[in-house]
Amino acid sequence: MRIDIITLHPELLESPFQHSIMKRAQEKGLLEVCVQDLRPYGLGKHLQVDDYQYGGGAGMVMMIEPLSNCIEKLQKERSYDEVIYMTPDGERLEQPLANRLSLKENLLIICGHYKGIDERIREHFVTMEISIGDYVLSGGELPAAVLVDAIGRLLPGVLNDETSALFDSFQDGLLSPPVYTRPEEFRGWKVPDVLLTGNFKKIEEWRYDQALKRTVERRPGLLEEE
Ligand code: SAH
Repeated sequence: MRIDIITLHPELLESPFQHSIMKRAQEKGLLEVCVQDLRPYGLGKHLQVDDYQYGGGAGMVMMIEPLSNCIEKLQKERSYDEVIYMTPDGERLEQPLANRLSLKENLLIICGHYKGIDERIREHFVTMEISIGDYVLSGGELPAAVLVDAIGRLLPGVLNDETSALFDSFQDGLLSPPVYTRPEEFRGWKVPDVLLTGNFKKIEEWRYDQALKRTVERRPGLLEEE
């Protein structure tokens, strides 16, 4: 899968994909993340990319021309399954949406800044708008990184244990059960006995019960959605 991200701040997107699972996904050739700097598409001597909004009011708006030039150049090189704009008023990112997007070949993500982007980009180029939650961040870079991470870890072969993403929270409509590692006892705090029995059937039952309990306590809404 290839994901292009259009941004005014490419440096904000350097680190998130250079470590851990996202790094491995790229090294294995399963994921290609291409950060596209919008600045060279800016207008005039100063490579302007934003301007005051019509009708007045505080805050700059990202202009239509640099964005459309950048999008169209990329679209000439390959066809994108979706052109995604990260925005607080978009569809909320939840696990099923990440699952769906992980089946695509090429995605193009646009990061906004300041007041956002000229509405005509949204009307004529964007095919999908995604929010990472009901709060406002200063730019679309962190939301884009969240989206790419959520998608990237689902690509077959990215996680070492191929099935492990299936057992994460939300995948089966339940939160994850608690997990423990060595030592068996620390300051008198013990690992639950059942996990040390080696009885896999019992362990699975215990995990399921814990996952259910946790979901009922913390996110009962997940059970109602089923
Ligand atoms: N004025 C806009 C917010 C602009 S925030 C509004 O009220 O809707 C600047 C940029 O940050 C946005 O263009 C978007 O790309 C990004 N952004 C901020 N919060 C976000 C969120 N919760 N989810 C996705 N993108 C977000």
